[in-house]
Amino acid sequence: MERIVYVNGAYVPESEAKVSIFDRGFLFADAVYEVTSVLDGKLIDNAGHLARLERSCRELGIKMPTTAEQLTSIQQTLIEKNHLVEGGIYLQLTRGNEGDRDFSYQDAIEPTLVLFTQAKQLVDSPKVKHGIKVISFGDIRWKRRDIKTTSLLPACLAKHAAHAAGADDVWLIEDGYVTEGGSSNAYIVTQEGTLVTRPLSHDILHGITRAALMKLVQDTGVAIEERLFTIEEAMQAKEAFISSATTFVWPVVAIDDQPVGDGQPGSIALQLRDIYIQTARAHS
Ligand code: PMP
Repeated sequence: MERIVYVNGAYVPESEAKVSIFDRGFLFADAVYEVTSVLDGKLIDNAGHLARLERSCRELGIKMPTTAEQLTSIQQTLIEKNHLVEGGIYLQLTRGNEGDRDFSYQDAIEPTLVLFTQAKQLVDSPKVKHGIKVISFGDIRWKRRDIKTTSLLPACLAKHAAHAAGADDVWLIEDGYVTEGGSSNAYIVTQEGTLVTRPLSHDILHGITRAALMKLVQDTGVAIEERLFTIEEAMQAKEAFISSATTFVWPVVAIDDQPVGDGQPGSIALQLRDIYIQTARAHS
């Protein structure tokens, strides 16, 4: 059966879905997006994702064509139509299309809204058992990484370089400090057992999974420090890990070919992953 996707008010088979070549999302990456994970057929942390979408739109002056409630109903309809049990829903909203290519735009332009499902094993991922290897890579993205835009070429190039080097992903570096992962937030656990992650600012995406984890960590008794850290500090750490909607938590076992800790997935990373999944299942 062909996947059913959503384009501007219609549910259509993916082979029939159409967006104009003049769409500003296509021509200028003038678009925002969100990915919400789906577990047991239910949306995880979706209120946070839709709130961030609204914020991204506000920051860029892109019109929200529907309410968050209507978006949730579209997401749920897609889950049903595609019998999605585990995976994610991708949502993209572009500023729209004015019928030609022009840098400037009218404020009244009608946005383009596209959603589709992606089936994926999130809980039983091999990356959990073995962890992932990352390489350090220069962060060449723009200065508003808190806005979730589809300008993802730097991330594509960085991840391609990681794969070419035999690694799974990157940790991005700016002014000597780790900003975040290629498509995730980055954390280390120091030899003293403190969880360290970069504070929220325009330099990083304010991860929805990060926000949930930060609350859950408080119940575990693990101390948190939100501060900058270098790749050298990460290499000396006891543990390292990443978080995002589609990975939840994945341990990082090597950075630039240097093992982190004993080179095995760290116990705090695995514990936080378990707590996150349990909580997500209980509250979705
Ligand atoms: N940082 C970047 C650059 C990302 O692309 C992502 C994934 N969207 C994240 C962090 C994690 O955000 P979230 O937990 O909301 O998926």
